[in-house]
Amino acid sequence: MIFSGGLDSTTLLYELQAAGHEVAALAVNYGQRHGRELLCAKAICQNVNVELTTLELPELAQVFGDNSLSDANAKVPTGTYEQDSMQQTTVPNRNMILLSLATGWAISNNYQAVAFGAHSGEYTPYPDCRPEFAAAMDEATQLCDWQPIRILAPFVNWSKSDIVRRGSELNVPFEETWSCYVGGEKHCGRCGTCLDRKLAFEKSGINDPTPYETE
Ligand SMILES: [Zn+2]
Repeated sequence: MIFSGGLDSTTLLYELQAAGHEVAALAVNYGQRHGRELLCAKAICQNVNVELTTLELPELAQVFGDNSLSDANAKVPTGTYEQDSMQQTTVPNRNMILLSLATGWAISNNYQAVAFGAHSGEYTPYPDCRPEFAAAMDEATQLCDWQPIRILAPFVNWSKSDIVRRGSELNVPFEETWSCYVGGEKHCGRCGTCLDRKLAFEKSGINDPTPYETE
C-alpha cells in the first residue's frame, strides 16, 4: 500500500490488516517540504510490525513544480479548501505517479494489489482521488504486466469523517498520524489540511487527540 503516515493511509493500513491482508507499506519522499510525516510513517509501521520501504525521490519536486506541498518558496494557504487554495495544494498527477511506482514495487515483490487512501471530500475532490480515476488505474494496472495487479481504493466514496469513524473502531493511534502541510512541532491548526482534519473529527463525533498550535 501507499503510505504517508497521515490519518487516511494509517486508517487504511489498519483496515487492510483487519481484513486479513498481509500488508507492506511504501512511502515516497517526493520533496515534501518537511520530513515530519515520513517520521510518523516509520513509527506507525513499527508499532504494527509492517515492513516500510521508503523511496527517496526528492527530485520529483521538479516534476511537481510550483505548489505549496513540494515547493519551499510557495506559501501554504490558510483557511478551508476553496477552489483557489485547492489548486495551490494540488500536486499534479501525484496519485498516478505514486501508484505507478507502487505497482512496479508490488510486481517485483509478488504482491497482488496496491491500495491507496483516496477519499471523497466535503469540497470538490482532487481529480486524482475520484472513483473514476481509481477505476481507470485499476483497469490499466491489470494490463501492465503478465500478472494482473489490482488497485484498491476502499475509501474512495467515503468522506474524511467516515474514515475517522472507522479508524476509531479500529483503534488507530490518530495522535501519531500527521496531516499538517507546515511541518512544525505540532499541527499548525490553520492550514487547509489541519482544518479538514479538525472538521472530520467534529463531524464524526470522535474526540480529536491532536495537539494544535492554535485552537
Ligand atoms: Zn497545518
